[in-house]
Amino acid sequence: MTNSESTQRLFLQSLWDWFRDQQAVFRSPFFPVLFSLTVYLSCCLPYACLDLLCYRLTLVRRFKIQPQGKVTWVMAWGCLRKIFHNHVCFLLPLSVLHWYWKPVVSPPLAPDVLSVVKDVLACLLLFDMQYFLWHLLHHKVSWLYRSFHKEHHLITATFSLTTENTGVWEMLSLSFFSTVNPALLSCHPLTEMFFFITNIYLSVEAHSGYEFPWSPHRLVPFGLYGGAQHHDLHHLRFKVNYAPYFTHWDRLFGTLHKEDTRK
Ligand SMILES: [Zn+2]
Ligand SMILES: [Zn+2]
Repeated sequence: MTNSESTQRLFLQSLWDWFRDQQAVFRSPFFPVLFSLTVYLSCCLPYACLDLLCYRLTLVRRFKIQPQGKVTWVMAWGCLRKIFHNHVCFLLPLSVLHWYWKPVVSPPLAPDVLSVVKDVLACLLLFDMQYFLWHLLHHKVSWLYRSFHKEHHLITATFSLTTENTGVWEMLSLSFFSTVNPALLSCHPLTEMFFFITNIYLSVEAHSGYEFPWSPHRLVPFGLYGGAQHHDLHHLRFKVNYAPYFTHWDRLFGTLHKEDTRK
């Protein structure tokens, strides 16, 4: 094992030991919901600050995908109310049930870095496929669209808080996919947490409405990753770019669409 591998291993083990020391919090039935809300709001906060600065600073506006789309307090408050409502009324009872039937296990050893990266990527690819199929179906069957997915499309110029601005069925479906994947792949609980954080960050980034030189799609080569521009076009054009993150499923189904909306 190289020096850097043993440092990374030590870091993950110390992090995992710290979590194991917080058993009362970590094993609480409220932990998953509080964790999900905290990560979500923390990912949205920097983008919400940019939304505030956007109309005062040209420098920020330069990176906005739809510069004409204004985020108002009414829109932001509407999204926040829905997010809290869905978490408290639906995710919390389900989380308590899950805790009752499947108590949290915490093995003494942390996973190694390579297996964390491998498992997080595998969970993301699986989630991408599941959401692509769910999403395609909910656009092709009009009553499914009207009953369950239309709510997420009411805002055509996305901003970070619109990420989880969905109906109950869509929120439950996405939560199910993101919970079942680490279980299917027998991931370590720490890997599961890394996957949740990455998954929430990437979906917020895709709805952020900003395109920066360091945005994930510019870091992944060969146009394999869609990102904010890709998902913004879905909200604008409806019948394209169904996959949340990667581009291979849209390429395969002929639904991949590229267009610079700033021009
Ligand atoms: Zn859609
Ligand atoms: Zn969306």
